[in-house]
Amino acid sequence: MFRAHYQHKRDSTNYIFWKTVVGCDLYLGYGRLPPIVGCQLYYALLDCHLTHGSDMILDVDPVSFHLLDGVNHLVLRRILGLGHHSGIPQLYSELGIYPLLVRRLELALRYLAYLVALPSSHLARKALTDAESLRACGFASWLGDMAYVLRNLPFDMPPLPTLGQMSSAWCDDFIKLLRRRCRAYVHGWVNAQPSLSLLHGRLEPFKEEPSRVVHLTRRHYLHRVTVADHRLALTRLLCGSFHLRGVHRPGSDIPLDDRLCRKCGLEVETPEHVLLLCRDAETAQARRELQDRLRLDFHYDLELPKSHAEAHVTLQQLIFHWHHVVPAARFIHKVSKCWHWFGHVLPTELMEDEPAFEGEHLDDSDTEADGW
Ligand SMILES: [Zn+2]
Repeated sequence: MFRAHYQHKRDSTNYIFWKTVVGCDLYLGYGRLPPIVGCQLYYALLDCHLTHGSDMILDVDPVSFHLLDGVNHLVLRRILGLGHHSGIPQLYSELGIYPLLVRRLELALRYLAYLVALPSSHLARKALTDAESLRACGFASWLGDMAYVLRNLPFDMPPLPTLGQMSSAWCDDFIKLLRRRCRAYVHGWVNAQPSLSLLHGRLEPFKEEPSRVVHLTRRHYLHRVTVADHRLALTRLLCGSFHLRGVHRPGSDIPLDDRLCRKCGLEVETPEHVLLLCRDAETAQARRELQDRLRLDFHYDLELPKSHAEAHVTLQQLIFHWHHVVPAARFIHKVSKCWHWFGHVLPTELMEDEPAFEGEHLDDSDTEADGW
């Protein structure tokens, strides 16, 4: 029934996306638009199209909704600098943006909170009462659609009660519950992906507070690492966009020989092995430079791990640290470069023949800004 509206809003979002985020990328270079600025453009110019009419038009038709969700994924991947085939949960967990289905439902629930607070003589309140009557008789209605959307969410939510049990306070609590369950769902989705192993069990660092578990937020490295190529290399490593030979689903039938490190051939090729355990000469040299930099700048002696499990912990401690993430990102960029991006061409490679922007030296400087 509303397919034309979804199509129109998809086209509007695409048009604005190309005029803003892609336009900045074309001007600055792929991935050089800071994700923080990308998110500001997203909320200021794109979100209004993606959520337009969502208080009235509930997403009961998955085909229509996919028109908007598809372009939403495209935008979020571009903001993070990931490829077109990257997974989905990391788009939400790393940018701190809730899934579109949940944001559109939340707007409908906020509209419901407004409606239930209206006096019974108000026409909109009368329409809501009629919708409840239709729903009770099993006919299609706005409240019936909302109950349907709630039942078909990818995580559990309590069923929609009758109108008599609803109030503004109930709506507010229900929205909080929706957001809480959604965060837990995204967290579980991330943890179920073998390619996102570095994100499993991580603690989000803060400048003046102890690290803690945060399921959805704009991650520290997106603004702490200000050199675009370093940030892209780190983001792609964390988001599983490097094609490492040893990263597969459990039970995969790929022969062991095809999963071994392409440089030393001694162990399975994983991020931990490549970055902290492999004996390849160039990688070992980059590791020594990282140790020197950490010692000089932070008086921190990085002890190299002996096993895969130790390497996993060490790598997470380096990346999920407010200060150490900056040299760690440069190290990851350097290693990725000497491994030829693990067989995957980074779009930014095309930019490396171009002169860097004034004040941005790709190899040597790590200007530590406190944020955008
Ligand atoms: Zn190796």
